[in-house]
Amino acid sequence: MIPDTWDQECDVAVIGFGGAGVAAAVTAHDLGAEVLIAEKAPKGLHGGNTRVAAQGYLNTSSTEEAIQYLTALCGPYTVPARMIEVWAEEMGQNNEWLAGLGGDPQEHQHPPAGIEFPELPGAQSSHKFHDGPVLGYGKTWDRLESFVLERDIRVHYDTPARDLIQDPHSGEILGIRAETAGKPLHIKARRGVVLTCGGFENNQELIRTYLSGVPYCFPQGTPYNEGDGIPMAQTVGADLWHMNNFAGPTMALKVPEFPATLSMQALHFSKEFPGGMIVVGPDGRRFADEKFKNRHGKVPMNGVWRPMALPCPMFMIFDHPMLASGPLYNTEPNRGWTAMMDRYPWSDDNSAEIEKGWITKADTLEGLARLLGLDGLALDETVNRWNAQVAAGADTDFGRTLMLNPLEKSPFYAVELSPAMLNTQGGPRRNERSEILRPDGTRIPRLYSAGELGSIFSNLYQGTGNIGEAFGFGRIAGRNVAAETPWG
Ligand SMILES: Cc1cc2nc3c(=O)[nH]c(=O)nc-3n(C[C@H](O)[C@H](O)[C@H](O)COP(=O)(O)OP(=O)(O)OC[C@H]3O[C@@H](n4cnc5c(N)ncnc54)[C@H](O)[C@@H]3O)c2cc1C
Repeated sequence: MIPDTWDQECDVAVIGFGGAGVAAAVTAHDLGAEVLIAEKAPKGLHGGNTRVAAQGYLNTSSTEEAIQYLTALCGPYTVPARMIEVWAEEMGQNNEWLAGLGGDPQEHQHPPAGIEFPELPGAQSSHKFHDGPVLGYGKTWDRLESFVLERDIRVHYDTPARDLIQDPHSGEILGIRAETAGKPLHIKARRGVVLTCGGFENNQELIRTYLSGVPYCFPQGTPYNEGDGIPMAQTVGADLWHMNNFAGPTMALKVPEFPATLSMQALHFSKEFPGGMIVVGPDGRRFADEKFKNRHGKVPMNGVWRPMALPCPMFMIFDHPMLASGPLYNTEPNRGWTAMMDRYPWSDDNSAEIEKGWITKADTLEGLARLLGLDGLALDETVNRWNAQVAAGADTDFGRTLMLNPLEKSPFYAVELSPAMLNTQGGPRRNERSEILRPDGTRIPRLYSAGELGSIFSNLYQGTGNIGEAFGFGRIAGRNVAAETPWG
């Protein structure tokens, strides 16, 4: 409903202060628009996944090759050719954009790295960059944030957007209803609204509805991305796309006391620890190479890449030498939401986590199985089979090559693992102008989007692509919304 009076006014309201929000807000501002950002998280916890990401962003070296690569990544999914072209053109301008605002992409320093699917055509055009000489937690984000803070852009923290306000006759988006301190805040947006409020990583209902193969899944990044942009856009008539695609799943520990997942060091694809460790499903059997370096959750199957199949609940089973080798969780400043803490309080000897029940301990495998509700005979057979394979020097079931150590020295331990993900890709469908579309392909006037909320990635994902895309489509949204004729 259109309010009688508005609490605040601006030309452009940007919903969400992450990477896409920065690109949209700064671009619109520099074109002369009065910009306001409404951010759900309190100050200090804002920045979304962009802040807690690994800080790499994509810059492509050849538009033609980038078109080939993204087309191949999409596989059977069809993304309009014009959309892919525009994406490729914008991805080649990310360094220039960052540098133009005072950032430092260190272009000469970065050889091509992190190509996710080198076997696909055009892959060699993908280059990973970050701001400044050091790739550190939050460093690229710090630079992005400074672009907003040094401009006359109003930021409302702790102010989630709840609804888009639409003219019932013209369908135009006139502003938003946000909430601050439990009270409504009606913000008039004279030129338009840009949705940059991230994905649905922390919304179990949407996960169950849209992500196949995972009965539940938890974020590695910000817990504030709860898919709010999806019903907001649907309510004003938006179509959705890429809802079943996500950067995951992987396996991690989720405890009720903490809003995001904690990664277990022993599952890292390159780290070796003493002692025995396997992961079993609810039938007490192994189901995968626990140390496989998947490609953002995708694993090979019969010649194609598919999301990793995870039977829940899953348990990481390990023995005393592994427990005694140090904290199970990496206590160094880390990426992911845990990076928001100076040092996540995990005890050096894992004893506090045993006390809290995060780690289950038993003197025998049979006792451990009983505590976990697993079939003791099955777990015993699994461990015996693993130990025999280790003794013979090869995991003939799943081809694991790392940490081929017997699991034999009691006490035995377990951690329940959950599917985890970096981010979802689905959301309202947008076009090459970053306009949000209805199912019939027409635009919803004055409504734009950018970032992982309705990402272009439909199938396979190239790492650093999300932040790269957030920059590119954020700029496009900023340019086009700033060019709208103000209403009222
Ligand atoms: C651990 C980790 C590592 C990653 N590493 C990389 C990497 O190196 N390179 C890469 O390209 N991608 C990486 N990704 C993915 C990438 O970080 C995200 O996809 C990307 O940053 C999304 O940017 P965004 O601006 O769309 O969303 P976000 O950065 O998540 O920002 C969304 C913002 O919207 C806010 N918000 C949510 N709901 C509302 C609401 N109702 N009203 C107002 N505000 C709202 C959130 O609080 C948040 O601040 C990683 C992700 C994780 C979790």
